[in-house]
Amino acid sequence: MSDTATSLQVSEVQPAPPEVEAEPGVTPGSALFRVTEPVRGRLGASLAVAAVGGTAGVAGFVGLALALGELFEAETDTGTVVAFLVLAATGFLGRFALRAWSFLLSHLASFDLEQRLRGDLAAHLGRVPLGEAQRLGSGAVKKVVQDDVRGLHMAVADAVPLAGFTVAQPIAALVALGFVDWRLLLAVALFLPVVFIGMQLTLRDYVETRRRYDEANEAINAATVEFVQGMPVVRTFDDGTVSFRRFVDRVKQFNVATTNWQNNNRSAMIFANLTVAPLPTIVIVTAVGIWLTSNGSMSPATLVAAILIGTLPVESVVPLMNLSNLINDSKAGAARIVELLDIRALPEPEQPKVPADGTVEFRGVRFGYAGADRDALDGVDLRIASGTVCALVGPSGSGKSTVARLIPRFWDVDAGQVLVGGVDVREVGSDELLKHMAMVFQDPFLLSDTVAENIRLARPAATDEEVEAAARAAQAHDFIVGELPQGYATPVGERGARLSGGQRQRITIARALLADAPIVILDEATSFADPENEAAIQDAIAALTRGRTVLVIAHRLSTIVDADQIVVLESGRVAETGTHPELVAAGGRYARLWEHHQRARGWGLGTTGKATDR
Ligand code: ATP
Repeated sequence: MSDTATSLQVSEVQPAPPEVEAEPGVTPGSALFRVTEPVRGRLGASLAVAAVGGTAGVAGFVGLALALGELFEAETDTGTVVAFLVLAATGFLGRFALRAWSFLLSHLASFDLEQRLRGDLAAHLGRVPLGEAQRLGSGAVKKVVQDDVRGLHMAVADAVPLAGFTVAQPIAALVALGFVDWRLLLAVALFLPVVFIGMQLTLRDYVETRRRYDEANEAINAATVEFVQGMPVVRTFDDGTVSFRRFVDRVKQFNVATTNWQNNNRSAMIFANLTVAPLPTIVIVTAVGIWLTSNGSMSPATLVAAILIGTLPVESVVPLMNLSNLINDSKAGAARIVELLDIRALPEPEQPKVPADGTVEFRGVRFGYAGADRDALDGVDLRIASGTVCALVGPSGSGKSTVARLIPRFWDVDAGQVLVGGVDVREVGSDELLKHMAMVFQDPFLLSDTVAENIRLARPAATDEEVEAAARAAQAHDFIVGELPQGYATPVGERGARLSGGQRQRITIARALLADAPIVILDEATSFADPENEAAIQDAIAALTRGRTVLVIAHRLSTIVDADQIVVLESGRVAETGTHPELVAAGGRYARLWEHHQRARGWGLGTTGKATDR
């Protein structure tokens, strides 16, 4: 990008994005400073080279001015003209070469920065608590690791050389102008504040336009999504007229907002466009110069020199505005990168212990989510002996998922202990801990890879036969071979888009079976697409849980009557514990839940068509 070219087109100014909110104590500016630390030396070199380049360019103009001035002399000395022209050529060539070198340095440094940041972020994400990774969501993490890091690369690579030029060039030009004639320097210097006001107006207006434009645009996007996604619902009540009118109204609002804005700000924009261009400065320098020349206090040669050099400070203004936007861009990305890097990693034990067996125990566990006003678990005690099944039941929000997620250390407890095989989970290395358990949650996670590789994720060294055996036990083999176009080699889309919910779940059960872990944590599905799928999944789960320690979050009581132990949770506390007959006989909360269930089942009989319930 040539700064001369940009200086003539205010429209090239990029609007600044809104600043993001950073962690307390981390301002976007300090975040930018911190993330660029590994390559700061090289960026400094790029900045210095660019500054010398900017100065060399001014020297080129000075050489040209001196050569032209020599032509005005009564006796032109060709040797001197040539010498000045050589100075000019050297200056311009130097400007070009140093600029290219500066960009090369900054781009190489930024490539390096991008690689390092991606590596650091990936390594760090591997150490943050699983719960944090889940809270952030893969979309947000992807945005930081890919988009923000790339954005930072591009902004830093361009901003550093631009900063060197746009600061060095006006300073060198003002110094040179001072040498040519101090009165012209004064005239340009007096006009500069006007230029800066123009620059501020332009920046302010661009930020404002961008904000309004983004808002209006988002409203249109939301209306479009609503219009398309809501079609099946909307059409039930309306032939599309009302919903389409909502969409058209948003488009009209967008037009009105932008037109009003343009009308209101037209004069400010005209003023801004006029002042940040080099033309007004040329006019001022020429007018003052002609006046000084006509009264004999300045030579025509000096006037020519002044016109050539006088516009250079203003020429840097638009690149300076672009620079400010580039820096704002990179600050916002840097703040999000630092926010990720600052998530506290899960502390690893110095001398990791290995769990003795599959026993799971909670001792006085208290745990609250960050920002929540009450604890999710408040003094939970429970013990699941190795090889037994424990079912967790309780109303929504009672803490069932939280109990399940504290075992694989999605988070660490605030008080008390979670023990696996007699060892506090914080004393087991996190890889070792995860090897001891297989998790099957309601929203099965599938990589965008083949079916076989998705199953093999649990044990990368597993043979094809072992993968198939796991799939058979998980009731997945038949549909993989019979329904998928390439069998085990069929790619599944991101998050398994090409498979049904039940099929996805059976693949994750196959994966859990292959892991052959002593502990199984199971979040029972709440709904099934069809009874056939349900039966297959129940068989798969039976295979998975056989002979292992199982913690099942039960949503339907019928599936847990045989559990060795049922734990009823209420508001983060254990309300009751016992076997199904014990709890029914006790006549407490569970008995009431069971009664409800029986009644509901009565209602449902004959409608499900499948007798998995007892
Ligand atoms: P459900 O049956 O609806 O899944 P649950 O019994 O599994 O509910 P939990 O998900 O463990 O309940 O939630 C326990 C409490 O913690 C609830 O009050 C819930 O609002 C809160 N909670 C759960 N997850 C988070 C989170 N990530 N951040 C903040 N609060 C949370």
